[in-house]
Amino acid sequence: MSTIVAIVGRPNVGKSTLFNRLIKRREAIVDSVSGVTRDRNYGKSEWNGKEFSVIDTGGYIKGSDDIFEAEIRKQVELAIDEADVIMFVVDVEEGITPMDDEVAKLLRKITKPVIVVVNKVDNAMREKDAYEFYNLGLGDYITISSTSGSGTGELLDELIKVFPDKPEPTQEELELPRFAVVGRPNAGKSSFINALIGVDRYIVTDIAGTTRDSIDTKYNRFGFEFNLVDTAGIRRKAKVKEDLEFYSVMRSVRAIEHADVCILMIDATRGFEGQDQSIFWLAAKNRKGIIILVNKWDLVEKDTMSTRDYESKIRKELEPFTDVTILFVSALTKQRLLKALEETVKVYENRKQRIATSKFNDHMLKLIEAYPPPALKGKYVKIKYCMQLPTPTPQFVFFANLPQYVKEPYKRFLENKIRENWDFSGVPIDIYIREK
Ligand code: GDP
Ligand code: GDP
Repeated sequence: MSTIVAIVGRPNVGKSTLFNRLIKRREAIVDSVSGVTRDRNYGKSEWNGKEFSVIDTGGYIKGSDDIFEAEIRKQVELAIDEADVIMFVVDVEEGITPMDDEVAKLLRKITKPVIVVVNKVDNAMREKDAYEFYNLGLGDYITISSTSGSGTGELLDELIKVFPDKPEPTQEELELPRFAVVGRPNAGKSSFINALIGVDRYIVTDIAGTTRDSIDTKYNRFGFEFNLVDTAGIRRKAKVKEDLEFYSVMRSVRAIEHADVCILMIDATRGFEGQDQSIFWLAAKNRKGIIILVNKWDLVEKDTMSTRDYESKIRKELEPFTDVTILFVSALTKQRLLKALEETVKVYENRKQRIATSKFNDHMLKLIEAYPPPALKGKYVKIKYCMQLPTPTPQFVFFANLPQYVKEPYKRFLENKIRENWDFSGVPIDIYIREK
């Protein structure tokens, strides 16, 4: 589970420019999962071997000026709750504004590390102008220019210095599957968990930020042992009123990063919407197993909408990662809850499976021979050997004489063929083509 860094600050200070700079380098390399580039506000980065997630909180809130103040306040409060480190971006051109003061006031109260980032310091003259930001009362600051990139190395050095120590997972934690129930507010997450494991076992309490360290609980239901990752959204349910995408995404990040399989609950009466999609892509981007439960199915008039129609509509939204189990459940009537758990365990097994290299070659090389990659500029691409890598999530490498000639559609073809022959339902797959 990587450290979560949130970028906060008022509009136009350069948060998204900084965000893009922090994640771009890595995105290009790592994001090979077909088409998974949709969330522009959440990304993974790495500096000196330390991996972390970055959330551009501002990216979720774009609106008119008058809603900003209240929104920014909430954005900062949520970032304080959910992130490990806060980057507070201010703008040297504008100096300290009343809104910066408001944000600083919130940040002065917390014990989590806060880094003040003075942006738009494009030249040496502006270094001097930055002095005034000591007045925020948050200590030292780092000056950067997000557009040119100057100062960002120093910022990253400083950032990883303040990362909190994370305890190593215990052996038991490593062996037990970890499931997280995620979804937008009111999808029925807590009802589902209650129905599955009993109301008494799952007590909704409101202990602000104190139970951070133990975020999963072990359960044994229907003969399955697993850890259920508690999401802050459920724990502090009383506070979740906002129906903005940002809130459900922010609330889900930690749980998703911590889980092996994400159970994405959607509300059948609302359909698969933007927020559901963001959470889905968040899970896919993190290479987590995914299962979709269409909850409140008891409320849907079955004459007007069949499961098949409903399912294909959702599947359309998942493209190109459509190999995902979709189940229709009701937390209220407890319809298909056991099935849901069984299928979740199945996804966990799928994600862990290892295909023997000889079997993999036997099957894939025959297909490749029958449908080789298209020749490019008169040159023929030959793939002679392939294997699954010994990585925590399924990754496959194909060795070719001209790897750069193997394009996305052919990789998609290979992925589909793997999925046809082995069950990787609900599991993101990486395909690499390397030079032999
Ligand atoms: P956000 O609303 O905080 O996410 O801000 P944006 O990243 O969208 O940036 C707002 C404006 O500031 C854009 O026009 C950027 O090009 C500009 N900007 C961002 N970083 C810098 C910088 O380092 N120097 C200068 N001069 N402009 C910048
Ligand atoms: P959460 O915010 O995702 O944890 O959602 P809750 O579990 O609090 O459920 C939100 C509302 O939907 C509550 O009023 C539940 O009683 C209701 N609800 C949850 N699951 C179902 C279901 O399967 N069928 C029906 N009819 N209502 C449900």
